[in-house]
Amino acid sequence: MNNRIFDMVTELMKNGRLPHAILIDSGSAADRDELALYIASSFICESTIPCGICKNCTKIKNGAHPDVIVFDPEQRKEKVFKVDFVREIRADSYIMPNEAKCKVYILKNTDKMNASAQNAFLKTLEEPPSYARFILLCESRAALLETIMSRVTPFNLGAEDRKITNEYTDKADELANKLAAALTEVTELNFMRLASAFEKDKDMLPLTLASLQLIFRDAVAVKTGSNITLSNYSETSNQLALKFSLKTLITLVENTEHFFSCINKNANKNLLITRFCSVLRSTAYGG
Ligand SMILES: [Zn+2]
Repeated sequence: MNNRIFDMVTELMKNGRLPHAILIDSGSAADRDELALYIASSFICESTIPCGICKNCTKIKNGAHPDVIVFDPEQRKEKVFKVDFVREIRADSYIMPNEAKCKVYILKNTDKMNASAQNAFLKTLEEPPSYARFILLCESRAALLETIMSRVTPFNLGAEDRKITNEYTDKADELANKLAAALTEVTELNFMRLASAFEKDKDMLPLTLASLQLIFRDAVAVKTGSNITLSNYSETSNQLALKFSLKTLITLVENTEHFFSCINKNANKNLLITRFCSVLRSTAYGG
């Protein structure tokens, strides 16, 4: 299991900030399932962090909780996540939970949704019943519409196959924070100086991008008046929200996500770093 993501999710649970719609992609199917059940338990269990032993947690573990609905088109012997399935889920979501305070939908193979299924599902994501929670699982978010992506909080389990020390993660977090803060400065000198760290250590890129995504997402949240923040650097997100328009902030999020997904496709890292830095610079400083 990707410990960094696991820790991040646990941190959100502790603060009661777990988003209502989550996407888990990449990594192994077993890891996606494990994380989805952990999150589902957190929504349902009375403890802040799922206790693992109460009636609710036990039922979830045994796949027997009536308010945790797992849907997988493969179980229906279908290759496509059809619009009919989405309608079925949507109709079910209007039925109140049986015994828990919320109803959790774990939807597998959501990258197998065709366009009409995705558009139908978007309606549910836009106006979900207050007690409904959605956890979307798939191999790659690349197949999902941007409109869907803008409604879910994504967690990528594939960013880290190898073991990474906490020290390394901290270093990447710190770099992401400094890079983001540098974008709010008048000139790009500081940003350029900081970005040269990637040349010395290319492996730093995925972790730094993951962290940057959170900082930029938080800035969007601040700008739109939401108090749901994900990164540890709220000061930087606040600064970004003050300096940039919502449109620019969304562009920063999208670019970072785009480059992050490119890393997972094993693109040439040198080229990626150069392009990423130039895109961020032109977005932030213009020109
Ligand atoms: Zn429990």
